[in-house]
Formats: sequence, structure tokens, C-alpha cells
Amino acid sequence: MTEYTKIMLDESDIPTQWYNIIPDLPSPPPPPLHPGTHEPIGPDDLAPLFPMDLIGQEVSQERYIDIPGEVLDVYRLWRPTPMFRARRLEKLLDTPAKIFYKYEGVSPAGSHKPNTSVPQAYYNAKQGVKKLTTETGAGQWGSALAFACAQFGLECEVWQVRASYDQKPDRKTMMEVWGATVHPSPSEVTEAGRQILALDPDSPGSLGIAISEAVMQAAPDPDTKYALGSVLNHVLMHQTVIGEEALKQMEKVGEMPDLLIGCTGGGSNFGGLSFPFLREKLAGKINPTIRCVEPASCPSLTKGEYRYDFGDTIGLTPLVKMHTLGHDFIPDPIHAGGLRYHGMAPLVSHIYELGMLEAEAIHQSECFDGAVKFARTEGILPAPEPTHAVAATIREAVRCRESGEEKTILMALCGHGHFDLRSYKAYLAGELSDYEYPTEKVAAAMERVPVISEA
Ligand SMILES: *Cc1c(COP(=O)(O)O)cnc(C)c1O
Repeated sequence: MTEYTKIMLDESDIPTQWYNIIPDLPSPPPPPLHPGTHEPIGPDDLAPLFPMDLIGQEVSQERYIDIPGEVLDVYRLWRPTPMFRARRLEKLLDTPAKIFYKYEGVSPAGSHKPNTSVPQAYYNAKQGVKKLTTETGAGQWGSALAFACAQFGLECEVWQVRASYDQKPDRKTMMEVWGATVHPSPSEVTEAGRQILALDPDSPGSLGIAISEAVMQAAPDPDTKYALGSVLNHVLMHQTVIGEEALKQMEKVGEMPDLLIGCTGGGSNFGGLSFPFLREKLAGKINPTIRCVEPASCPSLTKGEYRYDFGDTIGLTPLVKMHTLGHDFIPDPIHAGGLRYHGMAPLVSHIYELGMLEAEAIHQSECFDGAVKFARTEGILPAPEPTHAVAATIREAVRCRESGEEKTILMALCGHGHFDLRSYKAYLAGELSDYEYPTEKVAAAMERVPVISEA
């Protein structure tokens, strides 16, 4: 095999179907419940928030769903995305491990998020919806949705978590360039925001609060729907284009990973890369270990309880069974804004409970230490979220150096950090602090999680 660094595919290799892992699992994930009756919800309960095509995908039992031509046309702007062999990082670490990474930072918004914002905007526009509302933590999802709405002529209204709104004004400008309206959250615009501000006028906000605001704005207006950038089944499914391409790229160079690593906030970039590999594993064709990495200060998988909880802070969403730290838990202001979410995707949570995934939690100083090593060798500045995957990859590569094991590692590099330079600045100035796991705050939040008796 010739020396390769970048593994490219042709435009004709863009997947034409999304992969739904649910029919391949030994059991389906438990159903979402109505917040009032605690009965499983039906499509009608979701109709005020989502268009019918997406509701159909959310509950689909089909293994494959065709990607509409209009969506593929937009995907072609940046897909297929490159895969790299991290030869320079391997050399720095003096490891016998082979490190590959699949890079989603080449999308217009700079992350994997447009893989789902584009189909979400498309299906809403197709149904005649005029406006989408959403939340954004680090600004990545808000920008991805603003871009997608511009493609399909929809208005876009975004609630950006206050801490990030203040720290990342450039993300706000980016959303505005694509035509979106951006509010800091908590805001005075919604009843949910006003409730939070009455309790704490200086609230830094959280993804859970911003979700409450965006949902509250969309639900009563027939022309407006809501879009979520992670967590839901259809979102994880849209992201499987990452893993389908990655399988082809590994095959192209005659390799297969022994270990997959991805960061998990709500679970979508991780699910997107890993589910097609898990399909091959369940079929007995390959046998990789699959590992999630989360922040030590917001560790929903490794420390959260697996139980029904709300997706938002106020309690407007259906109850979903997931690993949770409590819906009104407000995580410490780590720089990886996209990983500051109290819960984990029900699908990732379920597969973790089935014993098919591993998880580990890492502090942000180790993550940025790894990211700077990565940038100085591979060139790309990772977004703060995937610095967790970078740090976990480096941990593993160092273990391989010590044991002499020649493992093949595939890492999800889901976005670049060009709008997150303040966090790198803090790291370089030695001002990045680690936050210990907030045992008491989580315990208090868990007390307020509803008790559901399950049959
Ligand atoms: C949103 C985001 C995340 C966290 O969301 P997941 O659904 O867990 O992928 C991670 N990385 C980047 C770059 C993001 O934009």
C-alpha cells in the first residue's frame, strides 16, 4: 500500500441512505412518555413541534431511509468529508498504534451538525413550515441550522446559551449572516426565560433552559416548528453518513479499526460515526471496541442514572429514558459548550446499557493539552468538544507505546475550533481550570427528576 495521509472518496460515494440501527438491536429503546399522563406518546403529540416526515423517522423500524435528492444536493457542498491518518501525531507520541480521524470540520458551519440541519430544514420546508426555532450551546448547532434554513428559505430564531452568547459573539454574527435572529438565553422573550431570570438575573443559561425557550416559542404557532441538533433518533440517523463514508475509507486503505472514539454531548457525532461500524460488528464481520468520551464535570453516561427525565429544564418535552444528571442541573461553564447537556441520547443510553459501548470522562485541561499536541502535528485546531476524543485517543496511543500493541484507532474529529480561540487562549495562559464532578448539585437535581413506575 502506498503512503497515504488523506483518504478521499468521490462525490458518487456520498451515501444515498441513512442507517437506522434500531431494527438491528436485540431490543428497542424504551418509548418516550407523555409528561402529563406518563403513557407512551404518539405521532400527534409531536406534531406541534416536528414535521410528519421527521416524526416518521423518529419512530421508524426501517433499517435504511433514502436521502432526498434535494438534501444530497446540499450535502455535495462538503461531502464526502476527508479521513486522515495522523502520522505526525503518531510520530510525536512514538506509538505503534495507527491513528485515523474522520474530519467533519469542512462543512460550511465547521462541524458535523449540517448533516442533520439540512434534512430537518428540508422536511419542514416541504411541509410548508415558515420558521424554525432552536437552542444552541457553543453556537455550532445554531449556525448549522441558520445555514440550512437559508438553503430552503425558512426563517430561523435561535436561543443561544448566555455564557456562549457573551463569549462567542462571532458565532452570533455567523448565524445573522445566514439570516437568523439570535437571543441570549435565558431571555425576556419567553415565559420560560422570564421564570429563570426572576430566580437568577445573572443565570449563565444552559442547553436545557434554551430548549425550553425554543419549544415554548414554536408549540403554539402553526407556522413555526422546533429543531433539535442532537439526542433524538432521527438526528443520530442523519449523522450516519459519517460512519458509512468512514467504512469505505478504511476499506480503501485496507484497514479496520480495533477501537472507535468519539466525544458525547447528546451523542450525535458519536452515533453517526459508530452505528454503521456497530452494524458490521453485530453482523459478526468486525469486532471494534467503541468508546464514548465525556467531560468529567458533566458525565451523564459514566455518572448519570438511567431513567426517565425531561429533555429541557422547565419540563415541557416528553419524558425520555436516558442517562441523566437531572433536567435542571446546570453544568459548570467548561469550554466545550456542546457537551454541557444534562442527558444523553436515549439510543446511545440504551446501547450503553446493552453493554455494547464503553465510556470514560476526562477533565478539560488534559483535553486542551491533547488538542495543542494535535494542532502542532496535524495542523487542525479541534473544537473544544472533540478535544475529549483527542485526549482519549492520546491516552490509548500512549498505552499502546507501553504495551507494544499495534492497535488501529479511529477518532471522530467532529469540528474545528476557529470560533473557540478564547478557550485556547485561556489554556495557553495557564488559566484553564478543571471543575470537579459536582456531586451535591447533581444529587439535588436528581431529587427533582419525576418518579415513573415502569411496567
Ligand atoms: C454539538 C457538538 C457536539 C456535541 O453534540 P453531539 O450530539 O454529542 O455530537 C460535539 N462536537 C461539536 C463540534 C459540536 O458542534
